[in-house]
Amino acid sequence: MKFFSTRGFGPVSGAEAIVKGLADDGGLFVPESFPEITLEDIGDLAALEYPERSAYIMSKYLTDFSYEELLGYTKKAYSRFDGEAAPVIKVDDGLFLLELFHGPTLAFKDIALTVLPYLLTGSKKKTGAEKKTQILVATSGDTGKAALEGFKNVDGVEITVLYPAEGVSDMQKRQMITTDGKNVHVLGVKGNFDDAQTAVKKIFSDPEMKQKFSDLGYELSSANSINFGRLVPQIAYYFSSYCDLINAEEIELGQLVNFVVPSGNFGNILAGYYAKRMGLPIQHLIVASNCNDVLTDFFSTGKYDSKRPFHKTISPSMDILVSSNLERLVYEIVDRDPKKVTALMNDLKEFGLYVVDEDTLYDKAPEFLGYSCTEEETKETIDNFYDDYSYLLDPHTAVGVTAFFKYMNEVYDDTTPTVVVSTASAYKFPQSVLDASCHIKESDAIKAAKRLSRMTSTEIPQAIASLNDKPVLHTLVVEKSEIADTVLSFVGGKE
Ligand SMILES: *Cc1c(COP(=O)(O)O)cnc(C)c1O
Repeated sequence: MKFFSTRGFGPVSGAEAIVKGLADDGGLFVPESFPEITLEDIGDLAALEYPERSAYIMSKYLTDFSYEELLGYTKKAYSRFDGEAAPVIKVDDGLFLLELFHGPTLAFKDIALTVLPYLLTGSKKKTGAEKKTQILVATSGDTGKAALEGFKNVDGVEITVLYPAEGVSDMQKRQMITTDGKNVHVLGVKGNFDDAQTAVKKIFSDPEMKQKFSDLGYELSSANSINFGRLVPQIAYYFSSYCDLINAEEIELGQLVNFVVPSGNFGNILAGYYAKRMGLPIQHLIVASNCNDVLTDFFSTGKYDSKRPFHKTISPSMDILVSSNLERLVYEIVDRDPKKVTALMNDLKEFGLYVVDEDTLYDKAPEFLGYSCTEEETKETIDNFYDDYSYLLDPHTAVGVTAFFKYMNEVYDDTTPTVVVSTASAYKFPQSVLDASCHIKESDAIKAAKRLSRMTSTEIPQAIASLNDKPVLHTLVVEKSEIADTVLSFVGGKE
């Protein structure tokens, strides 16, 4: 399997795409085609465990790795999870939650970021890359910690995480700034997530910066979801949840299902789209957004307009106005024409917006529907869901469930089984969840977690419980303009 940049560069191998992260022309790597998974294959996968299912799906794309190599990676990665990696929970007739938060940092990013270090190290061997790797990550909250945990103390790698200093939850920040490890750097940025992400992309596309890193013995790479190595492990859980529904006799092989995905940078749901293109029977992919509703508008009009107020919400990992991975879907919508993608992305850079022809959008991506919800609606959903099902939703998943309710209100006769992708543990956002479900305001994250645990008789996950005792190791906060030089200084460049 070969890979091309959405803006034309290529072809490269899967290993090269992973080592590079982002293509030299600023585009994202995409596979030359979608490998086919038949219903019979899906039936076979249903008999296997998660690491096997995952390695099988990945082996269809990463053909320069053997299935056995990939299986070695997934087995090691998912042994770090508390129980199953991606269990499906039935909450009501036809409504399921796909829980992706049982990894080391309690959010769905762990599914890919526990595997990515193995993929990157393996890819470097295969491509003969000799330089060390400086991984640059912009985070809206959850990617940062998951990447730090995945890459800490990995030989030949330095990792730097940039987070919006005022834009992540207390717990998310605490998780990041207490990370130990000899190769770990965590940097607060004065600005929002989009500022941090733009700064990272700029460093990647600046030949002079690249040269400076190169002179110091480093090659830049990305652990953000723009890296294909992030996307490919995510495709697996769409197939896996479908297998679980078959095994539980909730569906028959071949039956259509819907997925609802709380979305920000569009990486998670894009993996669902790839699964559909490979043959997974999916009817609708429902894009759930908080009041940063740029994706909702895009799917109803074809206009992607990032020029709008940025709202800080209780679902911070979705506070995003520029969804990087949408470029991969746009590439499919414009019939894989890199010139058209380049023109649209130039519009985005220059004018803050781009427009895809509405008819073409519905023609090419009819499975997508977007819904957004207010903060009040999200809180109400957490409250009602706890009352109705004794289940604590985190605020991101609650956005997904709210979108599902809105969808059902609009499409009365849809009896298609629906899986809401549950992206984080409620304990990652204890103040908001405590407030919404028990109407108690507590500003301290750890105290809120303890209170939530008592009120709901649920257990605090170990990864959170131990945070209180960990010393703060990273305190640096910089202006946007200082990011590049600061990162250089981490690898021995002058500041
Ligand atoms: C990252 C994240 C999202 C958004 O996922 P994207 O792939 O960026 O669309 C949703 N919920 C949680 C908890 C996250 O960490």
